[in-house]
Amino acid sequence: FLGPIQQINSVIETYPKGIAGFKRYLELLEAEPDVDDTPQAKSIPHVKGDIAFHDVSFAYGEHKPTLDQVNLEIQAGQTVALVGPSGAGKSTLCSLIPRFYDVDAGHISIDGIPVKDMTLESLRSHIGIVQQDIFLFDGSIRENIAYGKLDAPDEEIWQAIRRAQLEELVQSQPEGLDTLIGERGVKLSGGQKQRLSIARMILKNPPILILDEATSALDTETEAAIQLALSELAQGRTTLIIAHRLATIRHADRIVVVENGSVTEQGSHEELLARKGSYSRLHQAQFG
Ligand code: ATP
Repeated sequence: FLGPIQQINSVIETYPKGIAGFKRYLELLEAEPDVDDTPQAKSIPHVKGDIAFHDVSFAYGEHKPTLDQVNLEIQAGQTVALVGPSGAGKSTLCSLIPRFYDVDAGHISIDGIPVKDMTLESLRSHIGIVQQDIFLFDGSIRENIAYGKLDAPDEEIWQAIRRAQLEELVQSQPEGLDTLIGERGVKLSGGQKQRLSIARMILKNPPILILDEATSALDTETEAAIQLALSELAQGRTTLIIAHRLATIRHADRIVVVENGSVTEQGSHEELLARKGSYSRLHQAQFG
């Protein structure tokens, strides 16, 4: 029993300032040993947030390639939505930016600097990940929100809570910020967890954001609160949204269609509808 706990602890310690939530963190335990600082890695304290994929190919181990020569440029501050069938490679594409895995060919750069030339700690300090499947630990709301910025004063934490549309929930708890969550405390709904993850990111304030949209249906009110919190969060940052429902991404600066490990179309919602290609078919399938 202690073995796995120690392993999880070591992963948490690897990311104290970096990733406040990470997808499939148990998988990461397996992936982590392959990814390390390269000899040329330097700490890069600030980035603007331009992201570029140059001929990037990637396969999970011996499996067939999941990404095949992907080229993609995202300007700092833009919101880009990734859409496409399940298993097309959208999450994989995003997980290569913080180097959860290393590319097999090509390279990824931020502000023109290859991610491999940055220390993992500095690279990951510039990237925030928001997802429903957020990593919560057995501690207070304050500790869980301030995870990426442990010295944040209460005032700043409350501001993040308000912007993440969580104020009502926290205020309704007798212990307020000290309310325990996780194993020993209140159980949070999927929507509340996601807003907690948004509050974490507002506090962490990274220039690059990866949003993994919830697949499960939320009630309309929660959905609206989350959309509001997300648009607050995305402002002024480079944002990649892994989109499962097309309704929420209509206003993205650009929509990128990923199919079978390749980028097959990109443009605005209107441009892609007019093109009558894959996006228009996906749209047709969801909205009739
Ligand atoms: P979804 O919309 O369902 O989230 P996606 O477009 O994000 O899908 P990925 O999760 O990137 O797709 O998966 C792409 C492919 O890689 C799939 O075939 C998936 O089974 C495979 N895959 C994902 N993670 C792993 C892993 N850790 N090991 C092996 N194969 C994986």
